[in-house]
Amino acid sequence: MQFRSVNPYDGKVLKSYKGTSEIEVSKKIELAHQAYLQWRDTNNNERSALLKSVASELIKNIDHYSKSITLEMGKPLKESIAEINKCAKVCEYYADKAEDFLKDVPLETPHGEAYIHYNPIGVVLAVMPWNFPFWQVFRFAAPAIMAGNTCLLKHASNVPGCAMDIENVFKNAGSPDGIFSTLLIGAKNVGSVIDHNLVSAVTLTGSELAGKSVAGKAGFNLKKSVLELGGSDPFIVLKNADIKIAAEVAVKARMLNAGQSCIAAKRFILEKEIADEFTALFIKSLQKLKYGNPINSDTDFATLARPDLAEEIFGQVQKSIVAGASILYGTLPKKIESAFFPPMILGNLKPGMPAYDDEIFGPVASFFVVKDEQEAIEIANNSPFGLGGSLWTDDLEKAKSIAEKIESGAIYINQMMFSDPAVPFGGIKNSGYGRELSFLGIREFTNQKTIWVK
Ligand code: NAP
Repeated sequence: MQFRSVNPYDGKVLKSYKGTSEIEVSKKIELAHQAYLQWRDTNNNERSALLKSVASELIKNIDHYSKSITLEMGKPLKESIAEINKCAKVCEYYADKAEDFLKDVPLETPHGEAYIHYNPIGVVLAVMPWNFPFWQVFRFAAPAIMAGNTCLLKHASNVPGCAMDIENVFKNAGSPDGIFSTLLIGAKNVGSVIDHNLVSAVTLTGSELAGKSVAGKAGFNLKKSVLELGGSDPFIVLKNADIKIAAEVAVKARMLNAGQSCIAAKRFILEKEIADEFTALFIKSLQKLKYGNPINSDTDFATLARPDLAEEIFGQVQKSIVAGASILYGTLPKKIESAFFPPMILGNLKPGMPAYDDEIFGPVASFFVVKDEQEAIEIANNSPFGLGGSLWTDDLEKAKSIAEKIESGAIYINQMMFSDPAVPFGGIKNSGYGRELSFLGIREFTNQKTIWVK
């Protein structure tokens, strides 16, 4: 099988890669297992030294790695640079914190001494998406490796260059062989890797469909899985919020990575008193963004990562309009001829429309006007997803009480939703299960073992 790296901005093929053969996949799994048998016995200092070296390698070659992201999936260069910096940060974070996060936890028991001890679990397969092609991988790999596991990566088929680069980051950082390996395989070959008796667990970041398939396979094999799936995050603005700042941040929250983020704000829920003013400010901020070649440092947004992704959004918007949605801003193209899709705002949305029910993975904002905070909560929760969300008001006590009622893995108050190594990240409902980052993330791929001495 061949994997092609194509620049979505101009459609030019950058490079072709030969896929990993079945025999090579078996060898890489075996190598990852052998590496695990050594790595599980290393101490915190040895693991931490590797992750610090990985962080240095990322920063030393940030120019190369960030261009690799931009050329292959079309993200503006400044965002790719920020992504590499964040990967270095998560490595440093776990290099410094893992020992503390994995300390034995004493238990109160009727007699004797009891505690939880964290052991690694072995070889973990990561099935990853293209939208943050470095960050998604490092936010899993840094804690997994610090916990004593080894990693196999099956990356999205449109980012083989990034997939190989990440394997090289570990090589260049002096990692022992087998701690981190890339498998260039298609989605249909994932099942047999999960079936392999030397693979202990799997984590997937991607769509619901892929999540169901991978979780089904893992369940059948009685192996642990973590799923980070899609989202349709609400961005709620109440009448007593700072509307000007909220609107500016809202545009960033929708337009980062041309809207291709699981935690992008997708549904803007506005209290009626401020809806018109917010909409006008949102459009004003949107119009300031510069479209262009993502390799230019002043570009704010470019194309999507592939033409078929633009086609999919085209279909979702078209169906919503046919069902009665109105365009508050932007123009629906007559047809899709490249990976470009224009920023748009849709209103008049009702259940049954894709812009109400589904995730739109691109620069389309769904606007809702509500009479009060109760209706805002109802609309926020009327979604099959539950990943993140953002809530804007100057009444912080009320904000916290509303946040507690929203069905999602996180709610950020007076700030956009974003990921940070220090804060747990993950969803509920169709957004998946399990947590990444912070102390919860590192414990996902461990055996939380009880030891009780009489
Ligand atoms: P995708 O099509 O599900 O692909 C993600 C990964 O899963 C790719 O490596 C893909 O391989 C693989 N895959 C697809 N179908 C599979 C199957 N049946 N069995 C095994 N593996 C399979 O998702 P995407 O379109 O690339 O990414 C966008 C989605 O990811 C959005 O829904 C987004 O919200 C979600 N996402 C979630 C998070 C989060 O943290 N919650 C973060 C980022 C993105 P191929 O490329 O070879 O098909």
